[in-house]
Amino acid sequence: MPRASTDREPYAYIDQLRRQLEDGTMSALELLAFFKSHTPWQTAAWKRRRAELIGDSCGSCGSTEPPMVLQHTWHPRLFGECRTEVQRTLLPPLLPAYLEVHPRPPASPPFDPRTAPPQPFEVRQACPKCQSVNIRQRKDGIWSCNYKSVKYGSPRVVCGHTFQQPVTVEYRRFDDAAWLTKQAAVYEREAQEPGRAWWFAFVNLHWAEIEKQGALLVLEDHRRYVSLRAEDVVTRCKRCAYREDRAFRTGYANGLQAERHREVLVELEQGRLGATEPS
Ligand SMILES: [Zn+2]
Ligand SMILES: [Zn+2]
Repeated sequence: MPRASTDREPYAYIDQLRRQLEDGTMSALELLAFFKSHTPWQTAAWKRRRAELIGDSCGSCGSTEPPMVLQHTWHPRLFGECRTEVQRTLLPPLLPAYLEVHPRPPASPPFDPRTAPPQPFEVRQACPKCQSVNIRQRKDGIWSCNYKSVKYGSPRVVCGHTFQQPVTVEYRRFDDAAWLTKQAAVYEREAQEPGRAWWFAFVNLHWAEIEKQGALLVLEDHRRYVSLRAEDVVTRCKRCAYREDRAFRTGYANGLQAERHREVLVELEQGRLGATEPS
């Protein structure tokens, strides 16, 4: 962990974190863990800068009723966003050399419905008139059909047929078109798998660098955040601050959620691909 920064050099810890990331004595995850317990708004530098910048009236509604809030209008990017940013610049120049050794897997032929497996069916009892399996046997032994069409916008068709003996039908959950659509989706997913694995193996080769560069971007965003730039902050009354920040907080919370999911996915990909990575 970095030394406590002095009041004269309040951001010295950031330079130290930067050096640690660069020489590999700190990992990206360790940096994120550090931020979790870091409270920059309790430092003297933050309090001083805040006092310099905060106004005595709300820039939105004009209220002068204290307390005023110094609100950030700029926010640091999430780690996942920073990594994506790094990938966009880092990977394309490295791709040609990778392609020479690991050619892209050939594209699969398009989905052929004739190769789709037939839809499984159950043999079930059904209405002799409309073949629906939505039938009930009443107490008196007579069967009745409860079939109702579910099509919206057209007159509802109700069967209501009653009968002594159901017929048996091969019941399939999907009609032929829906079954083929599902099978096409399954096929596409599988057909794209070699290409995906090929790409992730490439990304995997550079993952350590992506994480490191991503962590450096996170750190620079942190520097901007804690240094409270005049153009990044506004003065708001409590009510306006709450209202204006709500959309951000929701978006940010969703981002964090998505980021957690991405972390899990990435770990899965890395674990799974570790075994198949071309040597
Ligand atoms: Zn206000
Ligand atoms: Zn019927």
